[in-house]
Amino acid sequence: MKNIKHSWAEPYKIKMVELLKMTTPAQRKKAMQDAGYNTFLLKSEDVYIDLLTDSGTSAMSDRQWAGMMMGDEAYAGSRNFYHLESVVKDIYGYKYLIPTHQGRGAENILSKILIKKGDIIPGNMYFTTTRLHQELAGGKFEDIIIDEAHDPENDFPFKGNIDLNKLDKLIKKYGAKRIPYVSMATSVNMAGGQPISMKNLKELRAFTKKHGIRVIHDMTRVAENAYFIQQKEKGYKDKTIREIVKEINSYTDGATMSAKKDALVNIGGFLAVNDWDVFEEARNMVVVYEGLHTYGGLAGRDMEAMAIGIGESVNDDHIKARVGQVIYLGEKMLEYNVPIVTPIGGHGIFVDAKKFLPHISQDQFPAQTLAAEVYLDAGIRTMERGVVSAGRKANGENYYPKLELVRFTIPRRVYTQAHMDVIAESVARVYERRNKIKGMKMIYEPKYLRFFQAKFEKL
Ligand SMILES: *Cc1c(COP(=O)(O)O)cnc(C)c1O
Repeated sequence: MKNIKHSWAEPYKIKMVELLKMTTPAQRKKAMQDAGYNTFLLKSEDVYIDLLTDSGTSAMSDRQWAGMMMGDEAYAGSRNFYHLESVVKDIYGYKYLIPTHQGRGAENILSKILIKKGDIIPGNMYFTTTRLHQELAGGKFEDIIIDEAHDPENDFPFKGNIDLNKLDKLIKKYGAKRIPYVSMATSVNMAGGQPISMKNLKELRAFTKKHGIRVIHDMTRVAENAYFIQQKEKGYKDKTIREIVKEINSYTDGATMSAKKDALVNIGGFLAVNDWDVFEEARNMVVVYEGLHTYGGLAGRDMEAMAIGIGESVNDDHIKARVGQVIYLGEKMLEYNVPIVTPIGGHGIFVDAKKFLPHISQDQFPAQTLAAEVYLDAGIRTMERGVVSAGRKANGENYYPKLELVRFTIPRRVYTQAHMDVIAESVARVYERRNKIKGMKMIYEPKYLRFFQAKFEKL
């Protein structure tokens, strides 16, 4: 009996299905050409398995759908706002809530309030919209993630950790007064969904307290980070995800949230803070950019679905199956020798395009090329996270990130294990013909967040 595996399975059953269109290789070739070899510009209809993002793509539960019918669409003081406010306080532990239409709405307001021209914002690796809002507010982002995070093969379990020596150097160079806050993300997206440890967070809290610097938490995927702490960090295996999430938040002063990820809704986000003064200013500013402070660009029903989704997102069985599915796909790819970022992160598999296509230089966009090839093989849509996503500096030079990745992001509660098998096998086929694949050149480049709309041509 000893050798029988103990598999996980989804803690739900399927009540409704959405039918998918299957495409031929000729149809996919045409669709990819029309999209300028940018997976963002494909029509969703032409995609079989959509792993572009886990953002807003989750399947809601029957309870969330029931909550949608309970929407109170009053302009002011909707009961769903008060429900959401109590959930954010109770589950996340933050005192004051400002709802926003999605995460970047919260980033915009927070950056405008806390950042002055010439400020430095240290963080554990940049995120596209977060850094752009920091820059637009006059600040400069400085990466203080540990070096291990830039090495896709390093097996350190907490590659989202912050290097306090790097932070100390910035304080010595610029002075603590020019650092309004540390931008700390859980489940660091651009590093491959890598978690930060509780130990590192406690040290960060103690260190920043000494210097009077705030810690602002990008809590978009906090529950997935909590799962890795529960599984890998000493002293946490008997704690619930809910307890761990609350402890993480307790070491921070406020948070921006894209509820389209962890919180299992298709739209929504918020800013949450503990500081009354920041709250007051944010409550005033949200009216300019999002909507009244009791809806922030959301319908009452959206806030209700979010309140219920947050509760479901910190359920231990949910998160075990969620991350379990991601790990299943990653291990399957490893069996085919496909180079991926390890340890496997919480929300997707990140294929190392530099290793996959070593003959293509970064100027010829290896990750962009690989994402196009993966679509051509079986209609699977992924996203570039490399030199195109990194964009240009204020002076116009390209950022050349060390990591050149293709992200296979898994929507929550949407695909089955059979889909995971199809994905791994398709990537293995592309890997087999990798030597024949050529790079690309960019023929159209938008000014902001170019990865969304840039167009390419095959060399
Ligand atoms: C998605 C995301 C954001 C931005 O949120 P939106 O809801 O897309 O505006 C910020 N930070 C991280 C880590 C994200 O993944």
